[in-house]
Amino acid sequence: MASPIAPGRQLVSATMLTVDQLAATIGDIADPEIPVLTLSDLGILRGIDLAADGHLVVRITPTYSGCPAIDPIRREVERVVEELGPPDAEVRMELSPPWSTDWMSDDGRRKLLDYGIAPPDPAAEPGCALLSMPARCPRCESEDTREVSRFGSTPCQAQHVCNACLEPFDRFKTLR
Ligand SMILES: [Zn+2]
Repeated sequence: MASPIAPGRQLVSATMLTVDQLAATIGDIADPEIPVLTLSDLGILRGIDLAADGHLVVRITPTYSGCPAIDPIRREVERVVEELGPPDAEVRMELSPPWSTDWMSDDGRRKLLDYGIAPPDPAAEPGCALLSMPARCPRCESEDTREVSRFGSTPCQAQHVCNACLEPFDRFKTLR
């Protein structure tokens, strides 16, 4: 999938930071709930617009409405933009289209599994039907698993159990 970040070599501050470098710095911010994931893994950073007059707007989308992590994420993005961006730069919340787990990177899905959380359904390839896959057990990788509760350790996760090795685990809920 093409990156939503428009490429550019423009300087955005006296520190000679390009839009790409600012995007990379914001993308490296860790998710406060699941710190192995970055904003780039989650696909939260939707774009950075630099107007001809130098006005910079950073657009981010919360993972889902009411996500408790979005306030600390927004504050951290604002801190980075204030530190590295031009004066009067803005951080805007973009609610449409709503965030989808399809925006999560393959890297992010792998990191989740290594962390012990089953990733959401894979993103659909263009022209293919959306798949709903059973959760894969982070311990033994069996797909013989079942959901035991819609409520996991955070609101974006559901609790599952593996029928093969009996390990209980959380799965990141698929959101589309
Ligand atoms: Zn298992």
